[in-house]
Amino acid sequence: MPKKKLATIWLGGCSGCHMSLLDIDERILEVVKLADIVKSPVVDGKELPEVDIALVEGSITSDEHFREILHIRKQAKTLIALGDCAVMTNVTGMRNYFDLKEVVDASYVNAVSNDGQGELPGHPCLLKLNDKVLPLQEVVKVDFVIPGCPPDADTIFYVLAEFLNDRLPDLGKTKKLKYG
Ligand code: SF4
Repeated sequence: MPKKKLATIWLGGCSGCHMSLLDIDERILEVVKLADIVKSPVVDGKELPEVDIALVEGSITSDEHFREILHIRKQAKTLIALGDCAVMTNVTGMRNYFDLKEVVDASYVNAVSNDGQGELPGHPCLLKLNDKVLPLQEVVKVDFVIPGCPPDADTIFYVLAEFLNDRLPDLGKTKKLKYG
């Protein structure tokens, strides 16, 4: 079987899902036998080429994430939402219950630790936050979801191994799923 191309991408999340991915430990050797990891926070690839599988952590929080997920969808044959932030916004979406300005002011301008000197960060390189955080499937078609916060390493490995062997995973067959 020809080697596949795999990307793992970090959008609006805490990186905990990628930490859990790293917890597959030595099983990463089985993954790299079947796939080249062409873009990921753990490799040096900067551009996203066409890939067979994209594992995406986190939700859509900003203009940049919005453009990025459209690009990922275009480049990936199979797009997998990795973790509850990607699936349903989860922790990242807690700000959706409030007005964006209230949230940003509470974090920067009025934060107690700023001792009355807080100001809004305004560097042009910073993300422009969207009013509401969105899960991936509200912006693009998602082919498979791995729930959990974070999903446990066994489940991530199982799903990856199935897709890399051209099989459709059945999460009912995994021994355990971690929900928080
Ligand atoms: S699902 Fe949990 S571990 Fe994953 S990015 Fe969100 S908060 Fe972090």
